[in-house]
Amino acid sequence: MGGLLLKNGNVLDYFPSDLAGAPRPLVERVDLRMDGERVVERGPSLEARAGDEVIDLKGRTVMPGNINAHGHLYASLAAGMPAPRVPLSTFTDILTEVWWPLDRALDAEAVYLSAMAGAWGAVRCGTTLIFDHHASLSSVGGSLDRIEQALTEVGLRGCLCYEVTDRGGKGQRDITLEENERYLQKLRDKPAGGDVPRFRGLVGAHASFTLEDRTLQLLEGICSRQGAGLHIHLAEGTTDREVSRDRGWRDPLQRLLDNGLVRPGSIFAHGVDLSPLDMQTLEENGAWLIHCGRSNMNNGVGRAPVDRFPARSGVGTDGLDDNMWGELRTTFFRGNEGGRGPLGHAGAARLWLGNYRLAREIFGEPFGSLDAGAPADFIILNNFQKTPLTTDTWLSHLLFDFHPWDIDAVYVGGARVYAAGMKPPVESARLQAAAAKLWRAMGWQS
Ligand SMILES: [Zn+2]
Repeated sequence: MGGLLLKNGNVLDYFPSDLAGAPRPLVERVDLRMDGERVVERGPSLEARAGDEVIDLKGRTVMPGNINAHGHLYASLAAGMPAPRVPLSTFTDILTEVWWPLDRALDAEAVYLSAMAGAWGAVRCGTTLIFDHHASLSSVGGSLDRIEQALTEVGLRGCLCYEVTDRGGKGQRDITLEENERYLQKLRDKPAGGDVPRFRGLVGAHASFTLEDRTLQLLEGICSRQGAGLHIHLAEGTTDREVSRDRGWRDPLQRLLDNGLVRPGSIFAHGVDLSPLDMQTLEENGAWLIHCGRSNMNNGVGRAPVDRFPARSGVGTDGLDDNMWGELRTTFFRGNEGGRGPLGHAGAARLWLGNYRLAREIFGEPFGSLDAGAPADFIILNNFQKTPLTTDTWLSHLLFDFHPWDIDAVYVGGARVYAAGMKPPVESARLQAAAAKLWRAMGWQS
C-alpha cells in the first residue's frame, strides 16, 4: 500500500524542526509525503512512488490540525436550549440551573451522542485533538469509553478525564474517582491507536470548591499511581475563592498545591481570579493554565489576566464549541476592547502555540509540525485565499482570515476524516430527540 503525496502545498508549520529554540512558525511552498500515520518526507519536487495517492494542491494551504486545550463534549446538546425562565445572575446560578442539571440528565446514550455532535462540530472546524473534561453524574461508569468511541468514529484524538466532585456525596464521588483510574489503567493496559497515540488521559476534577480535602488526597493518589496530571477548573471567577473562605479552607490554588496536585502536566482552566503569586506558583510547578475567553465573557465571571499567564498557557473553548480560530480571535478582540492590549499579537501567538506544546508534553508526539516524523494531522483549505499567507502573516490569518467554511479536508494520522460536504456521522433527528429528552429531564422544556 502506498502513501499520500501532497504536491505544491503552501504549508504553515508551527514548529519546523530545523529551527531550534522558541517556535517560529514558517510558511513555505513544499511537498509532503505521508506514510502510515506520519509525515515521512518534506521537500521540493518529491516524486510519487508506486501506489501513492497524489494530490496536487496547486498552492492551497495546509496547516496542522487545531487543538482545543479545554473542552466539554458533554455540553454539545445544550446548544440551542430554551432561554432560562429565571435570570441567571451569578456564576453559581449558571452551574446550579444549567450545567449541574445537564450532567445529571445525561444517560449513557446521551453521553455518546453529545460527544458525536461535538466531535462532528470539531472536525468541521479543523480541530483534531480535544482535551475533554467530562461530567455525567448519573451515568459515570464507562462514560469515558463512550466519548472515546465517538471521537474514534469521527476520527479525532482526545485526552479524556472525568470531573470528580463531592456534590453527589461520597458514594458518587468514589464512582467518579474510579472512572478516572479505570480509564487511565485501560490506556496503560491497552493503548488506543497505532503508531501515534489516539488517546491520553488525565485525572479530572470539577473545581476545588466542590472538593473536600479527603477527595483532593484521593485525586493525588490516582495522579501518582497513574503518572498523570490533574485537569480542573481553577479560579473561574471569585466563587472558587469565596467558597473556600466560607468553608475555612485555604485559597484554591494553595489547597491544590498542599495536596500535591499542582504538578507537571496538570491543566488548570480559566484562572480569572489568580494573583501574580499564583501565576508564579503554576509556573514553578510546570502546570498549564488554559484561557477560556468566550466562556468567561458568557458566564460573566470576569476578565482573566492573560498578560500575566505563565509560560505554559493555552486556549480552550470550555464547551461552547470547538472552533479554535473563533476562540483565539475573540480572545484577541476582548484583549483590545477598551484599549489595545493586554494580550496583543505576541500573547495570541503564545496561547495558540501553547496548545501544541501542551499536546507534545501529554502525548509525547511533535504535534503542530508538518515535518518528517510528525503525526499527519492537518487541515487543507479550499482554493480561495484572498490575501498572501507567508511566514510574516500567519498570525494575522489566524486572527482575521481563517474560517471553518474555508476547510476543504481534515486528516488525522494520515487518514482523511472530513471533506467539505461530507454526510454527518449521526442523523440530526437522533441528536434532536436526545437533546429534547435531555432538556425535559433538566426541567427546561415540558
Ligand atoms: Zn470547563
